[in-house]
Amino acid sequence: MTCPNCANDVATDAFFCARCSRFIPRPSLGSKANLFRRWLALVIDPLIGVLAWVLASALFGAISRDLGTAMAILFPVVYLVWFLTLLRNGLTPGKKILGLQVVQHQSGNTPGFATMFLREIVGRFLSGPVLGVGLLLGALRQEWSSLARQVIGNRSA
Ligand SMILES: [Zn+2]
Repeated sequence: MTCPNCANDVATDAFFCARCSRFIPRPSLGSKANLFRRWLALVIDPLIGVLAWVLASALFGAISRDLGTAMAILFPVVYLVWFLTLLRNGLTPGKKILGLQVVQHQSGNTPGFATMFLREIVGRFLSGPVLGVGLLLGALRQEWSSLARQVIGNRSA
């Protein structure tokens, strides 16, 4: 297989040309994700975390306040564990749902956990504000301040 751009020889399972980094379409292996789906995957990841937290606190909070608080902590923790498990396979929840897969430029291999962690966790925080993460932190902060008010209210009562 030769690169359509620079005619360089490309390894049979590579997604990108080693010389010019051009994407080589491989219908048998997968296609390059378009920007919208990549953006959607970025939004879905934190959104699931927020939904898990909101649903858990709403559903279980309706049964018992303590249960709601416990589940509001448990659900995001479970989600985080799932998230970290997926990272080892070059996936995030959003990417898995949308059928996206992160591959290394030259080899076409799945990046390891460390690479994915840097890319998906550290990279996102460094690459500017991500709406979902900001929302999640805001929601958590709100929960903490309402807990603090509750404690103060109980004491003065
Ligand atoms: Zn090339």
